[in-house]
Amino acid sequence: LWSRLESESELRPETTDGFIVQLAANLDSPDKVGEVKRCGASGIGLFRTEYLYMNRQTLPDEEEQFEVYKKLLVECDNAPLIVRTLDVGGDKFNTNIYRANEQNPFLGLRGIRLCLHERRDILETQLRALLRAGVFGNLRVMLPMVSSIREVIEVRSIIGQLQQQLENEKLEYMSHLPLGIMIETPAAALMADKFAPMVDFFSIGTNDLVQYTMAIDRGNERVAYLYRPSHPAILGLIRNCVEAANRHNIWVSVCGQAAADAYMVPLLAGIGVHELSMAPSSIAVVRRVIRSMSMFEMQETAQAALACTNATDALAISEALIHLRA
Ligand code: PEP
Ligand code: MG
Repeated sequence: LWSRLESESELRPETTDGFIVQLAANLDSPDKVGEVKRCGASGIGLFRTEYLYMNRQTLPDEEEQFEVYKKLLVECDNAPLIVRTLDVGGDKFNTNIYRANEQNPFLGLRGIRLCLHERRDILETQLRALLRAGVFGNLRVMLPMVSSIREVIEVRSIIGQLQQQLENEKLEYMSHLPLGIMIETPAAALMADKFAPMVDFFSIGTNDLVQYTMAIDRGNERVAYLYRPSHPAILGLIRNCVEAANRHNIWVSVCGQAAADAYMVPLLAGIGVHELSMAPSSIAVVRRVIRSMSMFEMQETAQAALACTNATDALAISEALIHLRA
C-alpha cells in the first residue's frame, strides 16, 4: 500500500469539486528536505528551531544560523519555508537558556514570552540571521505561544530596528518579512479578529491549543483520554480563526498533530483551513483523504461536527464520511 501511496506524490491535493488544500511539511532539523520533496509537500509549514540550541554549551551565533537558514532556503528552491522562532520552555526544556524553576512551566516563560521578556538577545540574533538569509528564498517567520497583541507589536518593532541596523551595516536583508503567529493559546484564537490585521498568516498549533483549551497536560497519560482535537470547543476556536482570517484576507494553516490525523482532515478542511502541515510521512495519506471527497461534503461534515456536544460524536461524523469513501 505504501509504495502505491508514494507514487501519488505528484498529484494535486485537490478535492473532487476542485478545491486545493495545501499540504506542507513539519521539520525539526534541516536534514530531511529530500524527504519533503519526495512526499510532494508544497513547502515547509513549520521549521522548529529548538534543535539549534539543544545539547550544547554555547548559543548559536548569527553566522551559524544564517548559514543554516540560507542552505535550507536554497534547498527549498523558492517553495515557502516557515521558520518558527525559538520556543523553549514548557515541554521544550533547555538548561542553557531556560531553568525550569517554575511551578507550571507550560504556563510560564515559554516561547515568545521568554524571548521578549528575558532573552531578547536570543530573539534579535535569530531574527537578524533570518532577515539576512531571507534574500535567498521564500521565507516566512512565525512566533510561538503568542497570547497578546503587544507581543506582535514588540516583535514588529524589533524587526524594524534590525532592518535599520542591517541597512546601516550595508548588509543584504529582506525589507518585507512575512510574519505570522502560531495560534496555540485560547486567547489568540478568541482574539483572531484583532490579530489578523497585524499579521500575514495564522498557523494553528493544535498540540498546545488542545492542551490550553481543555486544561490537559499534553504529556500526561492519565488525562490523555480527554485530549481530543475534535472537541467542539476546539473546532469552534479553529472556525473563529478561519472566519477572522477570511475577513482580513490572510491564510490559515494547521501545523499540530491534528493535521496528520486522517479523521480530522475533513473537519479542518471543511471549516476552511487553507493548509495542513505535518510530518512528511503523513502527507500521502492526507492527500488521499482530500482527493477522495468534495469540499461540499467536508463543509457539511464540519458543520455537523461543530453542532455536536462532544469530541466522540464529532469525530464519528468524519469517520463515517471517510469510510464511505475508502
Ligand atoms: C503545536 O503546539 O501544535 C505545535 C505545532 O507546536 P509544538 O508541538 O512544537 O509545541
Ligand atoms: Mg506548540
